[in-house]
Amino acid sequence: MKLLEEKILKEGKVLSSNVLKVDSFLNHQLDVAFINELGEEFKRLFAKEPINKILTIESSGIGIAALVAQHFDNCPVVFAKNKAGINHDGDFFHTKVESFTHKCVYNVMVSKAYLHPGDHVLIIDDFLAHGHAVIGLMDIVHQSGAVLEGVGIAIEKASQMGGSIIRKKGVHLESLAIIESMHDGVIKFKDNC
Ligand code: 5GP
Repeated sequence: MKLLEEKILKEGKVLSSNVLKVDSFLNHQLDVAFINELGEEFKRLFAKEPINKILTIESSGIGIAALVAQHFDNCPVVFAKNKAGINHDGDFFHTKVESFTHKCVYNVMVSKAYLHPGDHVLIIDDFLAHGHAVIGLMDIVHQSGAVLEGVGIAIEKASQMGGSIIRKKGVHLESLAIIESMHDGVIKFKDNC
């Protein structure tokens, strides 16, 4: 998506050859009008799928998922939690996810009240790197008996392999911008996006 690529080039900061900072519109401040346009594009890309629920993971997925959900009819957002709160009651689906940013393994959970066998789920996240977050969410969808309709990612970093692992599983994965490399601070996108 040209618009996202231009925004990344204008506002993104390359922290190392494998970490991109996009705090000005996605990870600290949310550019709501802009993310709405990403939502419109996800709706176009997944128009044929009967999606009734969006699943993401706290915390950075929540903002984008909520704005994307507005483009789908009657579509709540469920976010996987990585900490048990004091109001942790009832039954949960659990999985383990290694955090890209914190390098530790979280026990991630979603209440059984919010995912059911009749659900048709779209997973949304801000970044796709090694794929741990998305693969963990796919595991939770599988445990719930819901149907995984697809995965929508704002920014995929192709050098970190998560995208190819997930595509090999036959999942309908759409990334709005695919970064091929960030050597010496120069961002190069994959040609076909
Ligand atoms: P993965 O699980 O695919 O390795 O990493 C995905 C998660 O790590 C995303 O939910 C995102 O929060 C974070 N992440 C991965 N790469 C980056 C990056 O380059 N920049 C930022 N800001 N977050 C990233």
